[in-house]
Amino acid sequence: MRLEYATQSDTGRVRENNEDCFGAFVPDEEAALRSRGALFVVADGMGGHRGGEIASRIAVRTIGQAHADSDGVEPVEMLVNAFGEANAAIYEEASSDPGLMGMGTTCTALLLRGGHGHLAHVGDSRAYVRRGGVLRQITQDHSLVGEMVRSGIITDEDARTHPKRNVITRSLGVQESIETDTPDSPFVVEAGDTFLLCSDGLTSYAQDDDIDEALEGNSPVETCRALVDLANARGGRDNITLVVVIVHEP
Ligand code: CA
Repeated sequence: MRLEYATQSDTGRVRENNEDCFGAFVPDEEAALRSRGALFVVADGMGGHRGGEIASRIAVRTIGQAHADSDGVEPVEMLVNAFGEANAAIYEEASSDPGLMGMGTTCTALLLRGGHGHLAHVGDSRAYVRRGGVLRQITQDHSLVGEMVRSGIITDEDARTHPKRNVITRSLGVQESIETDTPDSPFVVEAGDTFLLCSDGLTSYAQDDDIDEALEGNSPVETCRALVDLANARGGRDNITLVVVIVHEP
């Protein structure tokens, strides 16, 4: 399994700071890559001026560290424990500083190891896979509008413009404990699979067709650029963050 990947994070056209954070933890050494795998993370922080930035950075750092220490640990267990540690670290930091009270972050993590993929997810950032020319969203949004779409009250299209589209129903750091989704994990990864992790600064502007088109035939760098440009061209009211990974034959 050979990976080609790119990351991009953009403040957008309206906000002054970027509360998104991402990480690509890909060991250089073949042996470490085999035992730990490659980890990709996107986090979208929230909660006041400083809080959002701090929360998303704590999440990425904590999960990256858990990955670095994970030789021999079962991947899903590692991810769920790491999300728990990140949740506790953010919660503690928020409790110790009134200016940070209530801060939290979404977090979506993809670990590729030994021909398998493993996902962990909290919040409304997303993971998609494109396989055999078909794009599929793998994560479910933990948001009010996400729940309304799933129960058939509103459509995907309504969700994009709904006044309560920013209400997140699950995030790291806001409560003492966290329930982490691990959709489909572990799943078999095939050569040609393309993964996208992204914050809602992209998906509030880009529909599945836009994402599909940007992924088709493009390198990860080209896809990142195309989708950041698209979100900015359509308003760019939020921070935009993407990780794109293509799995090649070894
Ligand atoms: Ca956002």
